Amino acid sequence: MAEPKANEHMEKIVSLCKRRGFVFQSSEIYGGINGFWDYGPLGAELKRNVKDFWWRSMTQKREDVVGLEATIIMHPKIWEASGHTSTFSDPMVDCLLTKKRFRSDQIDPQSGTVYFYSGAKDSTSEKVSSEAYSVLIGNGKHPDHARKIARQFYTTRGVANPELLGERTELIEGTVRYNPGNGSLFTEPRPFNLMFKTYVGPVESEDNVAYLRPETAQAIFVQFKNVLDVARQKLPFGICQIGKAFRNEINPRNFTFRSREFEQMELEFFIKPDETASKSSFPGEPGTEPSWGWEQWHKYWVEERVKWYESIGLSRDVLDFHWQQKSELAHYAKATVDILYKFPFGTQELEGIAARGDYDLTQHQKFSGKSMAVFDEETKERFIPHVIEPSAGVDRLILALICNAYTEEETTDEKGLKETRIVMKLHPRVAPVKVGIFPLLKNKPELVKKAQEVRDLLRAEMPVFYDDAGAIGRRYRRQDEAGTPFGVTIDFDTLGETPDLKDTVTLRDRDSMQQQRMAIGDLVPFLLSKIR
Ligand code: ATP
Repeated sequence: MAEPKANEHMEKIVSLCKRRGFVFQSSEIYGGINGFWDYGPLGAELKRNVKDFWWRSMTQKREDVVGLEATIIMHPKIWEASGHTSTFSDPMVDCLLTKKRFRSDQIDPQSGTVYFYSGAKDSTSEKVSSEAYSVLIGNGKHPDHARKIARQFYTTRGVANPELLGERTELIEGTVRYNPGNGSLFTEPRPFNLMFKTYVGPVESEDNVAYLRPETAQAIFVQFKNVLDVARQKLPFGICQIGKAFRNEINPRNFTFRSREFEQMELEFFIKPDETASKSSFPGEPGTEPSWGWEQWHKYWVEERVKWYESIGLSRDVLDFHWQQKSELAHYAKATVDILYKFPFGTQELEGIAARGDYDLTQHQKFSGKSMAVFDEETKERFIPHVIEPSAGVDRLILALICNAYTEEETTDEKGLKETRIVMKLHPRVAPVKVGIFPLLKNKPELVKKAQEVRDLLRAEMPVFYDDAGAIGRRYRRQDEAGTPFGVTIDFDTLGETPDLKDTVTLRDRDSMQQQRMAIGDLVPFLLSKIR
């Protein structure tokens, strides 16, 4: 069965994350807080590397994208204009028995027998329950289960002798009206706005309501004109931002995958509203054709993003794509493709790339009264740019990288005994520590001195970890689990015991476990070529 295996696999990953300091539960000593996660020493480095690499790829290495860093709390009208105040909601249901809350669109359809209980007179309390309550039990389960749940339900409502309730049954297929955990009925679905509300200033009145941003994108739209004025850019060009976003998710789950506080990396790429360009061919480099239509730009960004994922170790075969059908698209979107990763708990979204037309800028023009149009020198026309939006979640990507890296391998230790090696095969670009530095023995001052020299040489260029405790094999294993791609061992040959090998070290590759001798002077250029 696939599911227990996937659960077991996730449990191992979650346990390694805690044990090695990638991810901790937020506020753990107080029992934790659902939907919030902290990154420990290794996780913080990993996250920083991912964000830095995205930023470098998106803006610093390109001519046509600039950056922005906006506030988390913004004018509340922004969320009216964007539609978040009225429509940014998920359908929510409550279990009538446990009061636990669920997202109704995430409940798996179930089939079975539904037991309907209705309000018979209760002889003990003389109360009459007019409520009707039903319980679903999966095929093959005993009806007593349903009776027990119904009894619990009526007992919580003060009916002293629920045994006397009337009962009838019905076979039902594919329903999402019942809690899969206990068979109890859900309330009717109702919309639940996902934005966190707060008050700005000392007075808690409706006039002072503000929201923690549920996405970073809107700040880019509202600063579009300011950036255009200063950035010396012409269309097509983009503005990108990395930052926190907050969503009061009804049911946070799958470790960090669905959190209430998370980070996004978003690009808004503004293009001319030129939809007449050839749609059949996908041209080569941007800029080689002046009038790419939105479809070409959309495909271009999908391809760019996939290449980016490949460059940090997520190959195409662990990714998947969902091109949204017309019926799934937001009303303003022309096309959306989700890039998915094959997580152990299912294939799920990492990033959405949407062609959003001119919806957002038009809305902000309408709500702010400020023009969002640009003047095109070539055509002498004014228009509101259209936009392509690649929007990625940092935390989901970190989780994908961690899941992808986690490997168990059967090896034999120095004594020839079989053992399981746990190794995090993180791409050197994103690995938290790039190289482990190990003096062969810690009680030989000459070795330690030399090892510290090597550490200082490398530390100036990259994060390193110096470890002199325990057998060398154990030290390698510790760095394998941390995802450190290289290990450097300083031994007696380094000191000149074999004259030809003076000032060389052993360089160990984490994944192949191959070792090679390398001159200390060659280490920096070699390692930099691997981690950049
Ligand atoms: P979902 O359908 O999974 O809720 P979404 O389609 O609402 O996601 P978007 O609004 O498109 O997500 O947000 C862009 C990206 O932000 C997502 O692809 C995801 O990587 C990230 N993201 C969104 N919600 C969360 C969350 N609750 N926790 C972590 N990351 C999130």
